[in-house]
Amino acid sequence: MQFSPLQNWLPSQSVPLLIAGPCGAESPDQLRQTAQGLKALNSVALFRAGVWKPRTRPNAFEGRGEEALKWLKDIKEEFGFKITVEVANAQHTELALKHGIDVLWIGARTTVNPFSVQEIADVLKGVKIPVMVKNPIHADLQLWIGAIERVYNSGITELAAIHRGFHFYGKTKYRNKPLWQLPIELRTLLPDLPIICDPSHISGNRELIPHVAQKALDLGMDGLMIESHYNPSTALSDAEQQLTPDKLGELLNKLIIRKQASGLELNNDKMAGFRNMIDEIDDEILNALKKRVQVIEQLGTYKKEHNITIFQLERWQQILRTRGQWADKLGLSRQHVEKICQLLHEESIRIQNEKMNEG
Ligand code: PEP
Ligand code: MN
Repeated sequence: MQFSPLQNWLPSQSVPLLIAGPCGAESPDQLRQTAQGLKALNSVALFRAGVWKPRTRPNAFEGRGEEALKWLKDIKEEFGFKITVEVANAQHTELALKHGIDVLWIGARTTVNPFSVQEIADVLKGVKIPVMVKNPIHADLQLWIGAIERVYNSGITELAAIHRGFHFYGKTKYRNKPLWQLPIELRTLLPDLPIICDPSHISGNRELIPHVAQKALDLGMDGLMIESHYNPSTALSDAEQQLTPDKLGELLNKLIIRKQASGLELNNDKMAGFRNMIDEIDDEILNALKKRVQVIEQLGTYKKEHNITIFQLERWQQILRTRGQWADKLGLSRQHVEKICQLLHEESIRIQNEKMNEG
């Protein structure tokens, strides 16, 4: 797949790109007051608002529907913003196109369903409109890529992914866990696909948004989508996570925008020195791994000859406990070291299994 660069379809002076607007379009007045505040920031490239709101429980605010598309057209004319809305099925898509919406986005609850994504993609055949695809609710990278592919196969190359975090059953400080390794993996697989972070739906509350937004920029994401409402306490959906335009302005002023290192910087300055050191350390780690594998092979052969099972619970518990203690002593993250131990153990079992079944 080959994607069109973000700057081609959304020229914006602000880098990274900023998408802002309320969670839901509630009334012409709410949209106008919010748009006024956002206009004053001079950095919003795209005005967002949901007109069909997928809510978890019935009887919640489910959006104003087609009527709100007309209000958004007025916002576009009055303030000069390009407009983006969420579409979840073919009918939404047809209506959004009919009302001149500039950019579409597919929400997390829709990305999980290939039938819905396909019916949206079918409406878009032969249409030139940019589409942003949010990650599915659960951490399934292939499903996210599959949705992007379906839209791409309709001839749309103006595409972006939106990282909005992943559902997690249990207690976490986030509404949706960011699992940053997923957008990083997506970037590795599809390097020219723009990735926009949605700190609002990751955070679920105003306090966490700055931290998440900064982290997204530090990882080199191409833009931010942040919910903003002129009076969040009255919002009909996602009240706790929306920022007033003024607060959004304050946040933007505090964000540190880092750059990708240029060729010159990579070759000339300290960066190259640090990278060389890391290369050498990785080489040492791999050599140590090789030694570990050789010992494991001998152990596998020994266990086979003596009819001993591969998995020994006590030994595994001891490994986890001692490595955790060593990590603490060295000032390393225990969680990180435990994850590495899990991987080493998995590989160890695979190798011993191979040895036992040899011949
Ligand atoms: C939204 O952007 O308001 C929304 C419903 O988001 P998500 O699909 O990420 O839950
Ligand atoms: Mn929302």
